[in-house]
Amino acid sequence: MGASEGWVPVSKVILAKHAGFCFGVRRAVETARRSAPAVTLGPVIHNPRVVSELASIGVRSVSSPEEIPEGARAVVRSHGVGRETLERLKARGAEVLDATCPFVRRIHEMALSAERDGIALIVVGEERHPEVEGIRGWTSGESYAVATEEAALALPEMERALVVSQTTFIEGRFDRITQTIVQRVRHPEILRTICPATRQSQEEAVRLAREVDVMVVVGGRESSNSRKLYELVREVCPRALFIESAEELEGIGISATDRVGITAGASTPDCIIKEVVARMNDIEKQVTPSEEHVEQAETSPTESDFMADVEKTLVQIRPGQTITGTVVQITDDEVCVNVGYKADGLVKKADLSSTDVKIGDEIEVEVVKVNDGEGNVLLSQRNIVNRKVWDEIMAKHEAGEFVVGVGKEAVKGGLLADVMGIRCFIPASQLSLRYVEKIEEFVGQEMKLEIIEIDKPKKRIVASRKKVLIAEESEKKKAIWDALEIGSVVRGVVRRLADFGAFVDIGGVDGLVHVTDLSWGRVQHPSDVIKVGEEIDVKILNVDPARERISLSYKQTRPRPWAVAGDRYPVGSIVEGKVVRITTFGAFVELEPGLDGLVHISQCALTRIAKVEDAINVGDIVRVKVLDVNTEAKRISLSIREVLEDEALEPVPPAGELDEYSIVEVPAKDEDAVEE
Ligand code: SF4
Repeated sequence: MGASEGWVPVSKVILAKHAGFCFGVRRAVETARRSAPAVTLGPVIHNPRVVSELASIGVRSVSSPEEIPEGARAVVRSHGVGRETLERLKARGAEVLDATCPFVRRIHEMALSAERDGIALIVVGEERHPEVEGIRGWTSGESYAVATEEAALALPEMERALVVSQTTFIEGRFDRITQTIVQRVRHPEILRTICPATRQSQEEAVRLAREVDVMVVVGGRESSNSRKLYELVREVCPRALFIESAEELEGIGISATDRVGITAGASTPDCIIKEVVARMNDIEKQVTPSEEHVEQAETSPTESDFMADVEKTLVQIRPGQTITGTVVQITDDEVCVNVGYKADGLVKKADLSSTDVKIGDEIEVEVVKVNDGEGNVLLSQRNIVNRKVWDEIMAKHEAGEFVVGVGKEAVKGGLLADVMGIRCFIPASQLSLRYVEKIEEFVGQEMKLEIIEIDKPKKRIVASRKKVLIAEESEKKKAIWDALEIGSVVRGVVRRLADFGAFVDIGGVDGLVHVTDLSWGRVQHPSDVIKVGEEIDVKILNVDPARERISLSYKQTRPRPWAVAGDRYPVGSIVEGKVVRITTFGAFVELEPGLDGLVHISQCALTRIAKVEDAINVGDIVRVKVLDVNTEAKRISLSIREVLEDEALEPVPPAGELDEYSIVEVPAKDEDAVEE
């Protein structure tokens, strides 16, 4: 709006630094906003625009607890309420969101102490003001409200009384009234409980009003705080104005040379103040903040005590601090937490480590910002979890322990994995024991990782899966080696054959079965006995962990031929065997691997022969008769001749078939048994 519409830009507009919402009011308004739909006991602040804005989102005001629908959300505004009102609210089953200003709550505690001490409570303030009613509601003893010296003079005479003030009461007036009170109370305990925010704003407004030509107080007509501001500035600035909105500036005679001061009550929202300023000067940025009015006024000892006392009840917080708070409200986007600070804290849903929270839960949170710009404390639950996770990861790294991660994304040069919610990088060369062609195959896969590089400040972790695999293999090997017991029989798989023996995998480690340990008999090549891939039992003969050598025996898992030779080859039986060796005194015939018997030269044929080869040769398969078995001496005497004799004595086949037989001469039996 410019001068063309009848506005005269004034030479200087000075806005009081502490004009507008105090923290208590801001907190109550925010609580009401977040609680929608909800009801408040009385308007949350005395400002029609804010009240109607709240109404538009479902926050309406009622005048008694009984008007509150059962089970509804009830916001207690910054003025606070008495004990009985609070109980009535709870009796309605209301979900009570208490936005009582911490300064006011502290006075409630003072009222309680008066009750405990059995002394009267005198509140210097307006009897019908909700804050005064609320304060008096915290003592069941005698209590009075006095707003004038006359009212103070009318008090009954008392021996003792606790005197407190309505938080927004004018300081000078409080002093005058208390001087009167001391005439009625012999031993008064006077606590100046004027809110420092109010006092600061009042003093600043008066100082500013003295220096300007026109002083504008912006505030709701119903706001006692705004009205008191106006009363104060009017005393020092005859051209003081009390307006509710910028529209009321219409037609007010302000000249171009006027210096204009602006202040606002604690319930006046910033937007209205801005509108007034813009209307006054038309260019908001030309507004000069009243630097000269921002210095702290000196405080009297009593007031300092009160402030310190209140401060003590408030939690001191700083960014990065971990505190515990109670969940007081949950909306779609955030969780509101009472941390005992003058403003409530907000945790955005994304900053919750678990969405499984409910009103009344105590949760641990980290302070991200003491003021998010709107008067709220910004909190995070996730930061705490992250910090704990980092601590845990660091501890595991320092202890040389592995962590578990899940592959999330294949990136250039490797894989990004999630380790307990923290991102870490695995270089491609560290993914496996072998070359990895498709890194994507690891996405979604859970894997054990060893952290090989960690930089907490930079939030950087590099990990290796390969190192874990190597460690696991060596661990497994060690376990296998530890479990190897000489003399025990284990199951294995034939992996490889060589001329000198067979390599057998016995569960992660390979052992060698030497060719001589493959069979009780003679073996030309291991393939004569076993095949690659065959599962066999082997006996552990020796273990040398230092050289990583294991000697195995296959034959020792098989029955020794000599142990069963007597049963298997009874004397007189005729069996087949292979001529494996010839000597001057006879031929050795293998009945089975590891079991050879001797056919003495005299037993090699029906007739006497000069040398064994005249009858048989190495490699011949012959039928032999068992003449004797001596398992102790490991000797078996065999005879080919007796087989031939027996065959010769067999009945003569019928005529016609005889031609197929040859007539042989049967020599006399040689009884000499030749032993090996
Ligand atoms: S004026 Fe003071 S006591 Fe009242 S609500 Fe604001 S901060 Fe609290």
